[in-house]
Amino acid sequence: MNDSFLAATGLNGIGMTSQRTRDRLIARLQDQGICNYAVLEAIRSVPRHWFVDEALAHRAYEDTALPIGHGQTISQPYIVARMTELLIEGAPLDKVLEIGTGSGYQTAVLARFAKEIVSLERIKVLQEKARQRLRALKINNVMLRYADGSVGLQDKAPFDGILAAAAPADVPQELLEQLAIGGRLVIPIGEHEQKLFRITRTEQGYEREFIEDVRFVPFRSGLR
Ligand code: SAH
Repeated sequence: MNDSFLAATGLNGIGMTSQRTRDRLIARLQDQGICNYAVLEAIRSVPRHWFVDEALAHRAYEDTALPIGHGQTISQPYIVARMTELLIEGAPLDKVLEIGTGSGYQTAVLARFAKEIVSLERIKVLQEKARQRLRALKINNVMLRYADGSVGLQDKAPFDGILAAAAPADVPQELLEQLAIGGRLVIPIGEHEQKLFRITRTEQGYEREFIEDVRFVPFRSGLR
């Protein structure tokens, strides 16, 4: 997204999108240990204020989760950057599954690092809004599906990466099975206290790395 595109869409020229505000966020992420330059660049250029309601747009470049309605939140920039880093380390990403489109913000960041993303959302209204935003930003390698991600997406498997933006109590077995060999699943686990894990599928089985304590909205089954 270049500046002329932002100007043309009216996404530029207001204080909240100023380069300085975004630079401050990037500096903060670097302080917190995000070091992948391409990921930092993606966070700098995806207009996060575009993914929240106008009333909250002035807070869009704070490093915090914000409400997007229906009891859900847009993920904190730090966690979006961290999960993206974790997913793209290692082999290149061809096909990625995201569970929990929400506002579409994480999807927009991730879209720069994968050939194709399928993103599932169980709340129709959120999905529709996300679709409009991604379309306006001309992001064309994302397919949105209104579906319950508890069972993954068998007809598109295997995936090189799976990212869950909501926390189940345990890792759904289907998600493990839908990983390609060498594929990575980045997922928060737990009901009250949640922990972020990266699980890599190897020839022999699965390797699980604990990353850090996190807070996510709960992973729910069924459609809404
Ligand atoms: N990364 C998103 C965060 C959205 S919050 C963003 O930046 O906006 C998590 C989302 O996961 C919510 O929209 C919620 O409805 C969705 N979700 C929770 N459980 C799900 C499931 N089983 N299948 C699909 N989506 C789910």
